[in-house]
Amino acid sequence: MTDTRELIIIGGGPAGYTAALYAARANLQPLVIEGFNWGGQLMVTSDVENYPGYPDGIMGPEMMAEFRRQAERFGAEFVTDDVTRVDLSERPFRIWVENDEHTAHAVIVATGASARWLGLPCEQHFQGRGLSACATCDGAFFKERELVVVGGGDSAMEEANFLTRYASKVTVVHRRDEFRASQIMLDRARANPKIEFITNAVVADIFGEGKVEGVTLHDTRTGETRDFKTDGVFVAIGHDPNTKLFVDQLDHDAAGYLVTKPGSTETNIPGVFAAGDVQDHVYRQAVTAAGSGCMAALDAERFLAALEGHAGTALTAPRPEAAEV
Ligand code: NAP
Repeated sequence: MTDTRELIIIGGGPAGYTAALYAARANLQPLVIEGFNWGGQLMVTSDVENYPGYPDGIMGPEMMAEFRRQAERFGAEFVTDDVTRVDLSERPFRIWVENDEHTAHAVIVATGASARWLGLPCEQHFQGRGLSACATCDGAFFKERELVVVGGGDSAMEEANFLTRYASKVTVVHRRDEFRASQIMLDRARANPKIEFITNAVVADIFGEGKVEGVTLHDTRTGETRDFKTDGVFVAIGHDPNTKLFVDQLDHDAAGYLVTKPGSTETNIPGVFAAGDVQDHVYRQAVTAAGSGCMAALDAERFLAALEGHAGTALTAPRPEAAEV
């Protein structure tokens, strides 16, 4: 076990690295346990064109490397591995990476969310070979091609519409004949001449030699299956928060997203904060994740400053509720 830290940040995406930058500049010497696959969802994104300050766009992985470097410049330290267990029942909080135990007086959880996949055995094989969960990342590879989008929510409608910029035809495959998508998004997709719908159908298999060439559709009413030719499949069936390690200790909603007090990043445990997609299923943007990472660092700093004998010089007077520790 190493010495108890002031702050440990779990997660290396926009939220985690921004928290690390702010905490490092506040002399909290944070340890970022960033995950074996650090960088988060932006690592599977190509051009990021909507992050302010990059008028010409920037590649997602490059942006994450810059975030990380900026935090490192001010003294943040990193463990490039996955947390395997946490004990948040008392302070100092205990965090394990396999058998290595780390302890800290404050913790920021910024483990993000992951795109849902269909759960087909072939999915891993076809990823990067015509199968994607991110239209904005991979749509441009499908100019004048025919595509399938799976899902019936806002993401599926948004992705289908977006993909028609490149594709000659997009078929939305949805397992019911009612849609979870908001009416406006659905109407927009229905009005798009390049979009067609197949309802009451699930993708039972994906096939192709080396790359996606088609899907096997299973009709949920008749039980019949048929092959449907397509050049690519975009899965848009939602995201799951990466909260498996925390759900038995931190308050969460029915979908597993951590619950934070409105207007702050505080969880139900004083000294434990949550930032980014792990607590946000609405906005889910790099810039909003970074913003909440900043909030979490400031909240953690105020929390530590209110603990006697700890680092963290509160930037302003401690928030009344944060002082009650
Ligand atoms: P969602 O609303 O949970 O919809 C997921 C869709 O995928 C549902 O239609 C669901 O079918 C289907 N699905 C789930 N698991 C499936 C499986 N294993 N096989 C086949 N289909 C499956 O997720 P989302 O569309 O990602 O939206 C998430 C949140 O972000 C929502 O609050 C949404 O409004 C918001 N959002 C907003 C915008 C926007 O306003 N611009 C854009 C994107 C997302 P069932 O309906 O049968 O369950």
